[in-house]
Order: sequence, then C-alpha cells, then structure tokens
Amino acid sequence: MSRGGRRDGPTEPIRTCVGCGERLPQRLLQRFHLHDGELQAGPGPGRGAYTCRRRACLERAVARRAFGRTLRARVVVPAGLTDLFI
Ligand SMILES: [Zn+2]
Repeated sequence: MSRGGRRDGPTEPIRTCVGCGERLPQRLLQRFHLHDGELQAGPGPGRGAYTCRRRACLERAVARRAFGRTLRARVVVPAGLTDLFI
C-alpha cells in the first residue's frame, strides 16, 4: 500500500454556504454570480457565491449581505430571487 496521500476517486470541491456557513460538496449547493451588479443564480463569469438549495439559507444570506462580502461588490438582489427555493 502506498501512502502517497492520494485518495481514491475524484476529490469533490467543497464550498461554504454563505447563508448558514456549512461546508458542503459544491454539487449540493446553488451557485450565484453577479451580472451587471445583479445577483443571478447559475454558472457565470467572475466570482461565485454558494448557498444550500434552501430558501432559509438564501434569505439569510441576503439579509446578512453575505453575497456582497463574498463577491466583494455591491449586490442588487432582484425581487423574487428567493422564490428560487421553497
Ligand atoms: Zn446553508
């Protein structure tokens, strides 16, 4: 057995939910990015911020202005964005 520090299988990228602060595999989280200063869900250019796919986390992230901190920008949250999740 080698002990080279390599793990079996691909390593999953881990991201932090900006709503609750939990660290989870990226595939379980929703990515957000800025488009012309507006927060948009989904893949996109530039920095990304992640939340759990839960309305509570998304609302909390908005209320705490966590997106602005993470994306280092002024963030406009479009009306209805939190309707993305139940
Ligand atoms: Zn969360």
